[in-house]
Amino acid sequence: MFEVSNQPPPLEPYNLFTSDIVLREAAVREGASAKSLTAMGQVFGAPETIALGFAANQNPPQLKSFDRFGHRIDEVEFHPAWHDLLRIACSFGLHSHPWAEPKPGAHVARAAGTYMLTQIESGVYCPIAMTYGSVPTLRQSPEVAEPWLRAIFNAAHDPRSVPVGEKNGALIGMGMTENQGGSDLRTNTTRAEPAGDGSFRLTGHKWFLSAPMCDAFLVLAQSVKGPSCFLLPRWTPEEKRNAVQINRLKDKLGNKSNASSEVEFNGAYAQLIGEEGRGIATIIEMAGYTRLDCAIGSSGLMRQALAQAVHHARHRTAFQKKLIDQPLMTNVLADLALECEAATVLTMRLARAYDERHEISTVFRRVVTPAAKFWICKRAPFVTLEAMEVLGGSGYIEESILPRLYREAPVNSIWEGSGNVMCLDVLRAIERTPKAAEVLRHELEAVRDARLKAFAERLQGRLAAADRHDESQARVLVRDLVLALQAALLIKHAPPAVADAFCASRLAGEGGGAFGTLPRGLDLRALAERAGPLN
Ligand SMILES: Cc1cc2nc3c(=O)[nH]c(=O)nc-3n(C[C@H](O)[C@H](O)[C@H](O)COP(=O)(O)OP(=O)(O)OC[C@H]3O[C@@H](n4cnc5c(N)ncnc54)[C@H](O)[C@@H]3O)c2cc1C
Repeated sequence: MFEVSNQPPPLEPYNLFTSDIVLREAAVREGASAKSLTAMGQVFGAPETIALGFAANQNPPQLKSFDRFGHRIDEVEFHPAWHDLLRIACSFGLHSHPWAEPKPGAHVARAAGTYMLTQIESGVYCPIAMTYGSVPTLRQSPEVAEPWLRAIFNAAHDPRSVPVGEKNGALIGMGMTENQGGSDLRTNTTRAEPAGDGSFRLTGHKWFLSAPMCDAFLVLAQSVKGPSCFLLPRWTPEEKRNAVQINRLKDKLGNKSNASSEVEFNGAYAQLIGEEGRGIATIIEMAGYTRLDCAIGSSGLMRQALAQAVHHARHRTAFQKKLIDQPLMTNVLADLALECEAATVLTMRLARAYDERHEISTVFRRVVTPAAKFWICKRAPFVTLEAMEVLGGSGYIEESILPRLYREAPVNSIWEGSGNVMCLDVLRAIERTPKAAEVLRHELEAVRDARLKAFAERLQGRLAAADRHDESQARVLVRDLVLALQAALLIKHAPPAVADAFCASRLAGEGGGAFGTLPRGLDLRALAERAGPLN
C-alpha cells in the first residue's frame, strides 16, 4: 500500500462567511449585519452540510406518475438530503426574510446567505430564488396572496403535498417557457378561460417548469385580454390534485439535485394575479429578483471554485514549492480571485439597490440587474474551469466538487433570460428609464481615477451614440458597463493591489483570453492571499 502524501486536507469544516474577506467586507458595507451571517457560514461549512450537497446530487429526483394502484399522482420524489438542505435554507429565511421581516440591509443579508448556500448546493437555490422573487408579484393581488404569504413567511420547509391551508411553509415556482418559445413570451399558447366564479381554467403546456414540487406556480397564459399572470396551486380549493400532468423530467447537464419538468395543464384551476392582459409586466417583476439571484448564484459558484483552488494550491507541492508560490500559479489564482471579487462587490452593491426605496436605486437596479446577470453568469463557466485545473487531475474527479460546479455554471446564464436577451434588455432599460444615463454617469463619475475616467468616457460616448441602437453591439456595451461599475467599486473599496490589477487587466486590456495573464508589476501575491486561508 503506498503512502498518501502531498495531498491537501479536506476543506471542512470552515466558515463560509468569516473566511471570505471579500464577502464579509461587501456584505457589511452594503448594509448587512455580520452576526447572523457568521452563524450561517458556520452551518454551511459544516461537514454534515457539505455531505448533504453531495448526496442530493448523487441521488437525483425521480418522477412518480402513478401510485401503486394506478392513480395518477404526478409527484416527484427527492432524496432526504434535498429536503434537509431546503430546511436549512428556509430556517435562515433565504426564501422570504426580506419580505417577512423587512429592515435595512435585509436584501443584502439574504444575498450574502444565498451566496453561501449556492456554494454547498445550487439545485435547492432554484425554489428558494423563485419563492423570494414571487412575493412582490403575489402582492399585486392581496386577497389571493394572503394564505400563501402566511405560509411563505414561515421560516420552515414543509415538503408535504397538501393544500396551502395545511402547510407550515410554502415554495413557489414559475412557468413561462413553452416549447415554441421562452424568450419571446408573446408566443405563449396556454389558454386561460374564466370559470365563472372569479377563477380561471388553464389549458396548455410548459416546456420548462423547475422544482415541480413547489406548492404553487406563477404561470403565464393567454386570456381574452392577452398574456396574463396566474397563480396555479398544486391543490384546488376542493382539496383535489390540480389538473397538472408532469410529462417527464429533463435530463440536464448539471443542477442534478433539482427537478425541471415538462408539464401539461388540462383545465387546471388558477387565480389571476395583477391586471388581466398585463401578465408579462406582472411576472417580469418576479424575474427581476430571480435575475439578481442568477448573479448572486454565479458569484457564489465562482467563490467556491476559487476557495477550492486556493486551498489546494496552499497545500500541494510541485517542483519543491507550494503551488501557490509558483509564480505562474500565483498569477492564475490572483486573476481568478480578481474575477470573483469583482463579481461579489457588484452583486452586493446591486442587492443594496433592492433594499433602498429611492428613485436612484430603482433606476440602478432596473439597468444593472440584467447587465450583472449577463456578465457575471458568463464568467462563471470560465472561472470554474480554470479552478478545476488548479487541482490537476483531482479537479476532474467528482469528489472534488469542481465537476459539479462546472456543470452547474452555465445554467444561470441561460434561464431567466439568456445572455442576448439580457443585453437587449439593458439597452431597452437605458432607452426607456428616465434618468438611467444620469444615474450611471453619476455612479462612475463619483470615483476620481484616471484609468476609470478614460474608460467611462469612451463608454458614455458609445451609450449616447448609434451603438446604443445597434443590437449587434449590445454585448460589448453591457460588458463594458459592468466592467466600469466593477472597477468603480474596487477602486473605492478594495485594497490598491486589487484595483490596480483590475484596471490593468479589465480596463486597459493587459491580459485576458485566459486566466493567469495579469501583467508584470502587480502585487499578485497579495491578490492570491486575499482569497484564503480558509480553515
Ligand atoms: C435548468 C433550466 C431550468 C429552467 N427552469 C425554468 C422554469 O422553472 N420556468 C420557466 O419558465 N423556464 C425555465 N427555464 C427555461 C429558460 O428560462 C429558457 O430556456 C430561456 O428563457 C430561453 O428560452 P428558450 O429556451 O425558449 O430559447 P429561445 O427563446 O429560443 O432563445 C434561444 C437563444 O436565442 C437568443 N435570442 C432570443 N431572442 C433574441 C434576439 N431578439 N436577439 C438575439 N438573440 C436572441 C437567446 O438569448 C438564446 O440564447 C429553465 C431552463 C433551464 C435550462
